[in-house]
Amino acid sequence: MVKTAAAIARLGTESAFEVLARAKQLEAQGRDIINLGIGQPDFQTPEHVVEAAVKALRDGHHGYTPANGIPELREAVAEDLELRHRVSVDPASVVVVPGGKVTMFFAVLMFGEAGAEILYPNPGFPIYESVINFSGAKAVPIPLREDNGFAFSAEEVLSLITPRTRLIILNSPANPTGGVTPREEVDRLVAGLEAHPEVAILSDEIYSQMLYDGREHVSLLQYPQIRDRVIMLDGWSKTYAMTGWRLGFAVWPKALAEAATRLAINCHSCVNAPTQFAGIAALRGPQDAVAEMMSAFDMRRRTIHRVLNDIPGVSCVEPAGAFYAFPNVSGTGIPAKTLEVELLEQAGVATIAGTSFGRFGEGYLRLSYANSQENIRAALDRIAGYLGNREARSA
Ligand code: PLP
Repeated sequence: MVKTAAAIARLGTESAFEVLARAKQLEAQGRDIINLGIGQPDFQTPEHVVEAAVKALRDGHHGYTPANGIPELREAVAEDLELRHRVSVDPASVVVVPGGKVTMFFAVLMFGEAGAEILYPNPGFPIYESVINFSGAKAVPIPLREDNGFAFSAEEVLSLITPRTRLIILNSPANPTGGVTPREEVDRLVAGLEAHPEVAILSDEIYSQMLYDGREHVSLLQYPQIRDRVIMLDGWSKTYAMTGWRLGFAVWPKALAEAATRLAINCHSCVNAPTQFAGIAALRGPQDAVAEMMSAFDMRRRTIHRVLNDIPGVSCVEPAGAFYAFPNVSGTGIPAKTLEVELLEQAGVATIAGTSFGRFGEGYLRLSYANSQENIRAALDRIAGYLGNREARSA
């Protein structure tokens, strides 16, 4: 019998992939499933971006690139951030990686070890807790609450800091809640962090361009007083519908960019060249496709929010960002995981239990509205019908 390292048993997972596999299985058996489970845009990557990758291949870009990314791509990232967040970024502090997740892993590896504590949002992207546990550090949840619009509370985050805290993970706009933390709250947090100069911050801003009703994005890069300890994670997956390409980046504090590049050299060497050329085209080319996608998401968001609130036992705060609704289903009396399984198996709708995003997700479901208006309406009809019949049966 082989004996694996203890850390392997501590790795968690992302249930969205498991729900997707089960949904595919049911479809293969002839069942009609509407998938509101998966967190990826239902749009294709813009044509000019695809063409840039094809051209790069034809032009012979088949070899390794610098481990931290092609210089032109890192320059394009810096220009884009200057434009969007009005911050000055040195392309030397940008590290390009195969997807947003990789930055998460690197940051946690850099700060996590036995005896250390890492704060992370809960409910939140499940990989945060998983990789913190893997690193040996203690995962300390930052509870996100519905009555606060699922924004984090600066006061609460600061109250969780101990002498062992090494890293705080933040995510706004947030998965799975669609919550967005307002600038005043971020200001308060940053002011409080000045008393904790030894604590680093990983700010996951992968949904920074997915905001509604004119909300502004607040980047942690905009605070010079903590700039030397902020790792800002972003990428192409969501904004440019490029989840399968595997392309992301982070702006690292100057002192840590080299360590991050070393992790890249030890792990994957570099992102494949054609994908990096596609990344340049995405940033420097026309942005109409992004605007079109966002206007479609906004319409769906309004539909899903309105219809969910009409279902007895269900209530939903209006999502402010990303493409997820996080309805409170506690009024149905059904535990989140049971409801997820029943909706998939009985009603033919794939959703994700709030508990897949941490224990503070009990009583909630995540519905991704990266699906057509027609499918969203049909899925909500199925959910309402199923809950109604279930209620009638148990009466
Ligand atoms: N961060 C958050 C909050 C996410 O929701 C996701 C993907 O779902 C990621 C990071 C990872 O993105 P990528 O697919 O680029 O690794």
